Amino acid sequence: MRKTCEVCGTEYEVCVSCEKIHSWRAVADTLEHYYILTVLMDYMTKKDAGEALASLKRWGIDVTARDGYAPHIQKLLAEIEEKAAVKPPLSEKPPRRRRAEANPDK
Ligand SMILES: [Zn+2]
Repeated sequence: MRKTCEVCGTEYEVCVSCEKIHSWRAVADTLEHYYILTVLMDYMTKKDAGEALASLKRWGIDVTARDGYAPHIQKLLAEIEEKAAVKPPLSEKPPRRRRAEANPDK
């Protein structure tokens, strides 16, 4: 039977036994795409972009190279890239409020 990979949208052939034992072949066309899917599912539950990015890097998957993935996968990879990006602490400083201006009479 024919299936569509959840990660890249490629159609591929799955045999009945793969389907029965819930092999990764029942979800994705390649082991790498299956791995991406498990990482992203984990990310959707935990919302831990740093962990997701580290897991993807371990497999040599570059979240910035998103060509060839299904739109919803690209969206998640972009989200992970954005959230996992370490911002320099200086830019995160909240603007200071001056008390004198807020309450000039006291
Ligand atoms: Zn695929």
